[in-house]
Amino acid sequence: MDATENRCSLAFKQIARVTNSALPVKKMLNLVAASAAGALQAAGCAVMLLNPQKEYLDIIGASGLSDVYLRKGALNARKSYPDILDGKIVAVDDILTDKRTQYPGHAAQENLKSLLGAPIVQKGEVIGEIRIYTRSKRRFKPHEKDFISTVADIIALTLEKIELYQYLNTHHQSNLTQQKKLTSFSDLPLTPIRPTSFGHPSEAEFARLLDFYQVEWLYEPRSFPLSSQDDRITEMFTPDFYLPEIDLYIELTTARQSLITGKNHKVRMLKELYPDISIKLLNKGDYLKLFAKYGFIPLGENKMTGVQRILFSKTQLQRRVKSLAKQISGDYQGQELVLVGILKGVVCFMSDLMLNISIPVMLDFMAISTPADKSDALIRILKDLDTGIENKHVLMVEDIVDTGMTLNYVLNYLSARQPASLKVCTLLDKRARRLIDVHLDYVGYEIRDEFVVGYGLDMAGKYRNLPFIAVLE
Ligand code: 5GP
Repeated sequence: MDATENRCSLAFKQIARVTNSALPVKKMLNLVAASAAGALQAAGCAVMLLNPQKEYLDIIGASGLSDVYLRKGALNARKSYPDILDGKIVAVDDILTDKRTQYPGHAAQENLKSLLGAPIVQKGEVIGEIRIYTRSKRRFKPHEKDFISTVADIIALTLEKIELYQYLNTHHQSNLTQQKKLTSFSDLPLTPIRPTSFGHPSEAEFARLLDFYQVEWLYEPRSFPLSSQDDRITEMFTPDFYLPEIDLYIELTTARQSLITGKNHKVRMLKELYPDISIKLLNKGDYLKLFAKYGFIPLGENKMTGVQRILFSKTQLQRRVKSLAKQISGDYQGQELVLVGILKGVVCFMSDLMLNISIPVMLDFMAISTPADKSDALIRILKDLDTGIENKHVLMVEDIVDTGMTLNYVLNYLSARQPASLKVCTLLDKRARRLIDVHLDYVGYEIRDEFVVGYGLDMAGKYRNLPFIAVLE
């Protein structure tokens, strides 16, 4: 056995021991990465998993690479050495000149020269990659390629074992949910394995909410240098989440109040230094309201006692709905229109709107689950449309748009059915809380960040029959 073979054999022993241990997933994969890099006398190694849409790579374990390099930005699986995703082992002699390198600037800073990548394949499907990086130019030999490919196979098996464990755990948990009152998103069934270790439980809960609405997210994929001295970065900022579909960073500041001023300052600097970056800051209040909306603590139903103030009276509502209906009738003159509503909050608005539209309309409804249903990890269509909408003009009618996550999901769902046009009419627009910026064509009123009820809108099933819209105490 030569020296390399010796190192590889030792690495296999270490890898077998850690993957069969009870270590947390991230730690386990960091150790696998360290053993793999050590065996090939490489500078570093990263283990990555494809996101559910198979568009981005999440780093789930790494060794020997700097934080700045690891958090260089969203790694697009189709741009960064896409052949690996086709199941091939890819050896890159010169990272800096290779066109498939997505972040050559970062690679140069990290002094990376060559790369060896192998797919992680589970049941015939590529689910991720392992990449080895060197700091001197290298032509990888066949036995090194074999070695990395076997490490990738062991990682695939390990992830499958963890997934099975999670499944059994979830199954057990969902039996418990019958008796146990759920109080947070972390009590919801788990979505397929994403071994991200979050810095704070609120981040894990937020990730589950995004998962529920099938909003793609990456956790801390990019660090932004904010200040430097003599070529050394002295201050950095790493937003918690990046939502690639809508190109938005999100920072949660649910931790101690004392940290918030510092974070606000960093977000301000980020906006000044990187004006093209969109970032939203969710403070503790925003975050609690988001979860209270779905009936989770701490703003449980028992805290709501009664109507505090009427926001829009019956007469005001009738007047505004008539004017919206007139505008819609004019815009769709000579066309056949299908009004689609999501049950149940929209019933009053839909009925008044429809009665005031002067052109022929068809009517259909959908029902979808919400996180308040507390049984599904993913949003589900509970009632689909009764009729097809292909080549038809569709107007989605909504009671209220808040974060925009429901509407975003429904619009994606409906547009896949190829309607002739798809527009949105909402009675209320709570713009201040928007996370996903969906385009609204007709808006009754823009309202402040307050929880409203009445005219179809409920709080835990109550208040729907109030003829006005009110703010609760
Ligand atoms: P989104 O997905 O935009 O965050 O949430 C939209 C849904 O949340 C609405 O259809 C409605 O069911 C609920 N919602 C959001 N804000 C309020 C509110 O102030 N009052 C009530 N009753 N429901 C709301």
